[in-house]
Amino acid sequence: MSTLLEVTGVSKAFEGVKANTDVSIRVNAGEIVGLIGPNGSGKTTLFNSIVGYHPVDGGTIQFAGKEITTLRVPEIARLGLLRTFQQTRVYKQMNCVENLQISTPAAQLSTASLFVRVPKPVTEKAEALLDFVGLSSKRYLLAGDLSFGQQKLLEFAMALMSEPKLLLLDEPTAGINPTLINGLIDRLRRANAEFGVTLLVIEHNMRVIMNLATRLYCLAQGKILAEGAPEAVRQDPRVIEAYLGG
Ligand code: ADP
Repeated sequence: MSTLLEVTGVSKAFEGVKANTDVSIRVNAGEIVGLIGPNGSGKTTLFNSIVGYHPVDGGTIQFAGKEITTLRVPEIARLGLLRTFQQTRVYKQMNCVENLQISTPAAQLSTASLFVRVPKPVTEKAEALLDFVGLSSKRYLLAGDLSFGQQKLLEFAMALMSEPKLLLLDEPTAGINPTLINGLIDRLRRANAEFGVTLLVIEHNMRVIMNLATRLYCLAQGKILAEGAPEAVRQDPRVIEAYLGG
């Protein structure tokens, strides 16, 4: 398996608070890797460092064989590395199709696309992805009128519009009802298997992440505490003590 993301010795502090200390993780192309750990252990900070949201204090980040440590969000996104958010970032005053149409890098780069009708292929792709996430019947509803879970599905489809190589998902199932959770897990798996999207997933729901991930990393107090096969990490006494409870 080829390495897609290689984070080596990354550290990041906020005014003296060490959010990440010497963190190294590797994600191979085609994997679904889980990132677990207690609140405040540095998971979101690591995501933000990887996507170029803030500079790191030390260490390096490589993506698809390219050094991206000092690149910023748009440059990294163009290379095919995107993230989603715990609180969704859909455009609530636009309908579902429109949300998808503005989510391709090409549409974002072209000012003209704001004034002329969006080209047909974009619409076809948008329709196909709405179908994929099960929102076809809601295509002309305003995103703000969707349930929180449906907004998360829409946000996932928006990310897929750009055909990312690697997608970082921040608690995809948080706040979603159990029925939608199963549908979402199924779609994450299918995006991985059918579209070839590699996934790195922060998730607190252990049932979900044990079910989904092929490998896990556990962060605690800003450092990698354990890594490996999901079952081995779950049974690691250090992980039980720091995160899962005795
Ligand atoms: P997690 O995602 O695992 O809950 P975070 O990465 O959000 O953890 O936080 C790790 C530590 O870094 C916490 O102590 C948090 O308070 C701190 N932190 C995160 N972002 C900032 C920030 N922008 N400014 C100051 N402190 C921050």
